[in-house]
Amino acid sequence: MSNFLPTSKKEVDSLGWDYIDIILFTGDAYIDHPAFGAAVIARVLEAEGYRVAVVPQPNWRDDLRDFRKLGAPRLFFGVTSGSMDSMVNHYTAAKRLRSDDAYTPEGKAGQRPDRAVNVYCNILKDLYPQVPVVIGGIEASLRRERHYDYWDDCMMPPILETSRADALVAGMGEKAVVKIARQIETGQPLQKLYFEGPLTTEELDSVYDLPYTRLPHPRYKGKRIPAYDMIKFSITTHRGCFGGCNFCAITAHQGKMIQSRSEASILREVEAVTKLPDFRGTITDLGAPTANMYRMGGKDRSICARCRRTSCLFPKMCPNLGHDHSPLLKLYESVLKVPGVKHAYIGSGIRYDLFLDENGFLDAAGERYFETLVRNHTSGRLKVAPEHTEDKVLDAMAKPSFTLFERLREEFDKVNRKFSLKFQLVPYFMSGHPGCGMKEMEALSRRAAIHGLYMDQVQDFTPTPMTVSTTMFHTGKDPRTGKPVFVERNIQRKQRQKSFFFKKG
Ligand code: SF4
Repeated sequence: MSNFLPTSKKEVDSLGWDYIDIILFTGDAYIDHPAFGAAVIARVLEAEGYRVAVVPQPNWRDDLRDFRKLGAPRLFFGVTSGSMDSMVNHYTAAKRLRSDDAYTPEGKAGQRPDRAVNVYCNILKDLYPQVPVVIGGIEASLRRERHYDYWDDCMMPPILETSRADALVAGMGEKAVVKIARQIETGQPLQKLYFEGPLTTEELDSVYDLPYTRLPHPRYKGKRIPAYDMIKFSITTHRGCFGGCNFCAITAHQGKMIQSRSEASILREVEAVTKLPDFRGTITDLGAPTANMYRMGGKDRSICARCRRTSCLFPKMCPNLGHDHSPLLKLYESVLKVPGVKHAYIGSGIRYDLFLDENGFLDAAGERYFETLVRNHTSGRLKVAPEHTEDKVLDAMAKPSFTLFERLREEFDKVNRKFSLKFQLVPYFMSGHPGCGMKEMEALSRRAAIHGLYMDQVQDFTPTPMTVSTTMFHTGKDPRTGKPVFVERNIQRKQRQKSFFFKKG
């Protein structure tokens, strides 16, 4: 128990604390693991000497006792919706209420409100008007500017206005929260917006080396938390993504520059995972937003500092981009040598245009990476995301041409033949993206390159704040060119696009 940060008055008392510096409210269950933002922020502040308590999934519908139970903190309240935007967490792309919530014990839905940051923050502001409230996490971060909200189908003001928070931490907030704590402690005025940019490898290592128990808080009494089951044997190798897909908000939150952990830090975490009681030898994901961007980036960083491109890969790979897969290959090799590790799979997505073009592999390390990935780091199925087959739609998404996937399939088949494997290539597609109608979905289903492949699912495009695709969805124009783009806004027709492939198949 004492290894966790306190979540109740009883736990605070048992620590002998007569005050708390910072109280964090989160829409997720409290899982003390580096994959969960609230746990990371709590551990970072604790390492700086602050007394931190965590209030997970407070009840906002009763007499608000969860918001009162620990009283006012000495410095500030922190508020996050959790690991997801609460509207994405609650509703499907067809705006249907979901029946479960992976971030809650037993997957139970309804344990956090819609627009959780606004709800939690306004309650705290009413109860404790004199205490600063700092908001962060993906919901606050992506709603930091005036933005289009898909669920209410309207433009919304910046979340600082609607939540009445005193400050907003955009992006990954480790440095910013420590700065805020110091500023409040020393009586300095707060900024409205904090965006502290790329951590160094040493700083990132120090975040992952904090003493996480890697377990859900004992208050859940061993109940199953689906999101925890998914990540408990997985390791994050780096942050950020320079792919710049138009529908993805990762770059707006984590940044375009890759921040990589050292191999030593990753191996320390792998060793910690092997000591978990139910670990059976499989690291389920050695990943990141894009798994094969580890240690990659601009060769001349002074050019990158002046760069205005949103993607280092689209429409063509930037000549200044270093795309050497050797450090990642070495890392995979080292992980497999850790005693107790039998398999290390790559569950996160990869970008195949980092090692392949229409003519073949870009270099020897890229070819070795692909072969190693298929043979040693998939459980028999390599999942990749061409997202569509039609170049007009792919251009709207800022994804490479489908001819690249066709080339990938050839190379995949070669690896299967060379090593007498029967592995499968599983493509993922997206329907309902601006530029895509039924005609494009029909064309997708006719493509020979996907025939005979196992198809898992088609994802229906959800317009989330701060993406280029959402701007297209709202305005009906491509902001890159100002030209009109077809947008399917009718929910039934959007759903027909999603189900089209499987009906035909
Ligand atoms: S200069 Fe090239 S490598 Fe650097 S950020 Fe721009 S696109 Fe990426």
